[in-house]
Amino acid sequence: MLIQLTYASRTARILGPADIKDILGASQRNNARADITGALCLNHGIFLQQLEGDRAAVNALYHRLLKDTRHRDTAVLDFGEIPHRRFTSWSMGLLTSLDTNRQLFLKYSSSADFDPYSMSTSTLRSFFDEVMQNVRWLE
Ligand code: FAD
Repeated sequence: MLIQLTYASRTARILGPADIKDILGASQRNNARADITGALCLNHGIFLQQLEGDRAAVNALYHRLLKDTRHRDTAVLDFGEIPHRRFTSWSMGLLTSLDTNRQLFLKYSSSADFDPYSMSTSTLRSFFDEVMQNVRWLE
């Protein structure tokens, strides 16, 4: 069964480029093996990640993520069965608030901050639809 899980978390400390490289490297390596696809957004200390794949594989990854000390306050925002994948060719794409992507984060910010914890599931889905269509991917 193909499912999609979306969660948010906060960075537990200031993460540098080496930390992000480690996270992305492990993600791309492990996700390709587990047939998991998705996108990871990082904006002002908040991660927002969407994972898609087999239900058992995504659950196993989520349990591993919960133990990762680089982030905290992990919260599932959306979970459900999907008919097909959104991120067919990304084992894990990274989106930060740099340059062209900043407008996208601003569009989905109710105040000065991008706060996925307070977004409805339909807003989250629209956000990821736009991510697919508009962003400049950094891999
Ligand atoms: P390794 O290659 O053994 O480790 C990779 C690097 O991460 C090493 O430098 C190691 O020191 C460091 N590291 C590993 N585990 C931890 C930890 N618990 N706390 C602190 N540092 C650690 N993994 C995926 O497989 N797929 C994902 O989509 C994914 N997304 C992530 C999103 C976020 C926001 C974060 C914070 C982490 C994510 N991870 C993801 C990483 C995941 O939490 C595990 O660290 C990773 O899956 C372990 O895989 P590995 O054993 O191959 O890593």
